[in-house]
Amino acid sequence: MQKFIKKGYEIVEENEKADVYVINTCTVTNMADRKSRQMARRVKEINKNAILAVCGCYVQVAKDKIEEIEDVDIILGNNEKSDIVEIVEQFEKNKKLEIISDVMYQKEYIDFGDITYTNKTRAVIKVQDGCDRFCSYCIIPYARGRVRSRKIENVVSEITSLANNGIKEVVITGIHIASYGKDFKDGTSLIDLLERINQIDGIQRIRLGSLEPKLITEEFVNRLSRLPKICDHFHLSLQSGCDETLKRMNRRYTTSEFRDGVEFLKKAYPNVALTTDIIVGFPGETEEEFEQTYKFLKDINFYKMHIFKYSPRKGTKAAIMPKQVDGKIKEERSRRLIEFSDQNTKEHNEKYIGKELDVLFEERDGEYIKGHTTNYIMVKVKTNNDSIKDKIEKVKIVDMDNEECLIGE
Ligand code: SF4
Repeated sequence: MQKFIKKGYEIVEENEKADVYVINTCTVTNMADRKSRQMARRVKEINKNAILAVCGCYVQVAKDKIEEIEDVDIILGNNEKSDIVEIVEQFEKNKKLEIISDVMYQKEYIDFGDITYTNKTRAVIKVQDGCDRFCSYCIIPYARGRVRSRKIENVVSEITSLANNGIKEVVITGIHIASYGKDFKDGTSLIDLLERINQIDGIQRIRLGSLEPKLITEEFVNRLSRLPKICDHFHLSLQSGCDETLKRMNRRYTTSEFRDGVEFLKKAYPNVALTTDIIVGFPGETEEEFEQTYKFLKDINFYKMHIFKYSPRKGTKAAIMPKQVDGKIKEERSRRLIEFSDQNTKEHNEKYIGKELDVLFEERDGEYIKGHTTNYIMVKVKTNNDSIKDKIEKVKIVDMDNEECLIGE
C-alpha cells in the first residue's frame, strides 16, 4: 500500500472500483486456497478493465491453480512482491505476466524498506521470513522458503521512523521469529535484536509475536527481563499437550521442555499472560491423548487458547497419515477447549477489578475508547475525550464487560 501511495495511487476499499487490484494470497489451509481463488474470480466483476495481480503464498505453492483463472493478468511469487508497483506499471495489457522464482533457493531477506504507513496505534514489524521446522501438518516452509533474517539496522531504522510518527507499541513478527539470526554468520539472535529495539526513543512497548517454546531458556528470559519495554504477554505455540502427538506433529519439543519455559517466564513476569494455539483431532489423537492435552493445559493455566480443528493440508505429511479423526470428535474436543479457554480468560481478568493498569488507547467503540494493557487485556473506558487515543494512561478497573473486556475509569 505504502509503495503505491508513494507513487501517487489512491487506496480504495476492496469492493470499490479500482484500476489495479492486488490479491495477496494465503495458503495455510485448503479453505484459504479456496478463498484466494474466489477473490481472484470476483474482482473483474467490479471493473473488467482493471489490472489484476495475484501474488503470495498460494501462488508460490500452486501457480497452476491461479493460471487456470482466466482474468488474472499478473502472477507473482513471494520473492517478487516487493517490486509490485514497478511490475504493474510495466505490464502491457493483454499479455499475461508471470514471475515466480523458487523461494527455496532464496538466501537473503527481501527488504521492503521502511514501512511507515499505518493507521493503527500499534505497528507490526516483520523481522524474518521462512521456516526450517517442517511441522508435519504445515505447508508454510514450502511457500516461504528457508529462514532469512532482516538486518538489525533496517529493523531499527523502520521502528525509529514509526516512533518519530508517534507509534508507541511495536509487535515483532515473522514466520518463525525464534529462528531470527540463524542465517547470519556473526551469532546474532532474536535477543540481540530486542536489546537494540529496546533502546529506541519513543517506543514504549515491544510485543512479541508467536514464539517457539524451545527459545524460552533461562538465559533468554534473564536477558529479556532486563528490557523494560517488553510486554508481559507471550504467545507460545503449543499445538498439543501430549508428547506422542507432538512427535507425530514433528514439533521437536516435549511438554516438559515447554513447562520449563513457562516457569522461567512466570518467575520473571508476575502478571504474565500466556496465550497459545492448540490443534485438536490431529491424525491418531486418541481420547487418552486428548485428555493428556486437557490436563496439561490445566496445569499451565493459559490466559487464552486459540483452538483449531485439524484440517488436512494437501502436500503435507499429516494429510496422508493413517487414523484421521472423525469430524464430530474434532468438533466436541474443540468445543470443550473453547469453553475452557473462555473460563480461564474470565478468571484471569476478574482478578484485576479494583486494580490500576496502564492502557494504550487504540480506537473508539461507541461511547467508549478501547485499548490494551501490557499483558494484552482489553480495557474500555466511557469518555468523549478522544485525546486519550494513542496514549498510555492509568486506568482504574471497575467492572467486566464480558470475559474478554474490562471496564475502567
Ligand atoms: S514452526 Fe510454524 S511455520 Fe514452521 S513449519 Fe511449524 S507450524 Fe509451520
